[in-house]
Amino acid sequence: MGFSKHVAVVLFLLHCSFAPFGSGSSGPEPARFLRRAKEPELAEWMVGIRRRIHEKPELGYEEFETSRLVREELGRMGIRYEHPVAVTGVRGLVGSGNPPFVALRADMDALAMQESVEWEHKSKVSGKMHACGHDGHVAMLLGAAKILQEHRDELKGTVVLLFQPAEEGGGGAKKMVEAGAVKDVDAIFGLHLSTDVPIGAVACRAGPVLAASGFFKAVISGKGGHAALPQHTIDPILAAANVIVSLQQLVSREADPLDSQVVTITKYEGGSAFNVIPDAVIIGGTFRAFSKESFNQLKQRIEEVIVGQASVQRCSAAVDFLAEESPFFPSTVNSRTLHGHFEKVAGGILGTENVREKTPVMGAEDFSFYSDVVPETYFYFLGMKNETRGALHPGHSPYYEINEDALPYGAALQASMAVTYLSGMISSTTAPLVKEVAAHDEL
Ligand SMILES: [Zn+2]
Ligand SMILES: [Zn+2]
Repeated sequence: MGFSKHVAVVLFLLHCSFAPFGSGSSGPEPARFLRRAKEPELAEWMVGIRRRIHEKPELGYEEFETSRLVREELGRMGIRYEHPVAVTGVRGLVGSGNPPFVALRADMDALAMQESVEWEHKSKVSGKMHACGHDGHVAMLLGAAKILQEHRDELKGTVVLLFQPAEEGGGGAKKMVEAGAVKDVDAIFGLHLSTDVPIGAVACRAGPVLAASGFFKAVISGKGGHAALPQHTIDPILAAANVIVSLQQLVSREADPLDSQVVTITKYEGGSAFNVIPDAVIIGGTFRAFSKESFNQLKQRIEEVIVGQASVQRCSAAVDFLAEESPFFPSTVNSRTLHGHFEKVAGGILGTENVREKTPVMGAEDFSFYSDVVPETYFYFLGMKNETRGALHPGHSPYYEINEDALPYGAALQASMAVTYLSGMISSTTAPLVKEVAAHDEL
């Protein structure tokens, strides 16, 4: 390597490095953001918003009150926004209004389940509950918005605030993408509250972090009749039972043991009397994989096994993958470039010991739809475990609770990621940031 090449590499590295905190960089200093987010006035404001949303949970595409609350708060801050985007979604804009654009995303929907936690701000809507922390996600993004708006004149580009509907199976992110919510966006950051990660810490990884997910439903039809005269019937109960056993063999016998996959049956409906064989049984469930190939292979084999195994017991079967109501979620794959950026920024705010490695899990997130159009996507987990207060119940439990002490961390981190990303973009205008060629690679 010649001298000029050395110089070029040094210059390139200088261009690509993000502005260190508090080092006299021209932009705002993210190290201050956590202190700001922890100030009682801002922290308590976020807690209040989270509790208001918690009391009135709304399901996917019905987040009208939540959306109204978001718009009112953005309006009070003087942040301009677009609405409606994807039915109830809101798209706020902070900064210059010009490129580059970096997006921060929060999901707004609740779950169709009854809250069992007895507390002052328990859900007031029977059969609906924020049991996945999305009320906290909205509060944190509003907190980040407030911090960013306080520094709007220093932003070297534009932060796009995405409040999206229907993460829980409804594919709200897909509709946001289709509505153009991330048009021209260069990078997007999302987070999820985690009951496994300690308060003040985050967990993340480069590459695949959450699986691709699909649902299926099958109607297995036979011929009903008297339970004591099975010879005159075609029994769909037995056929469905054999179908389920056969489906369990897809992962254990056909998948590479080192390629994580799941097939789970969650639904079995059939019959209503002890002495009647029904005409039909409905089964359903979900399947998960990281790579597109494994996901498509599972989908094909699920249909073949259901139809083929049902026919062994003389039944017919129709399989529906519910693509309209629950679109397949792609796997969530983190950009390696943004991972380096995140480790640096989060480590600077929380301490490097509090930036932990996340093992991939077979859960799914519709955040993955953004990676279809946004060049760089990054999703991480925000800790809220505090053992001195006892263990927290996991997401989707009727006993799920948020440790509200986590809210300032999420607000500060999201604001910091956006600000430092924009600063990095500007400093790299003469030498573009290293784009992760395999940003969408899969496990
Ligand atoms: Zn959830
Ligand atoms: Zn969730």
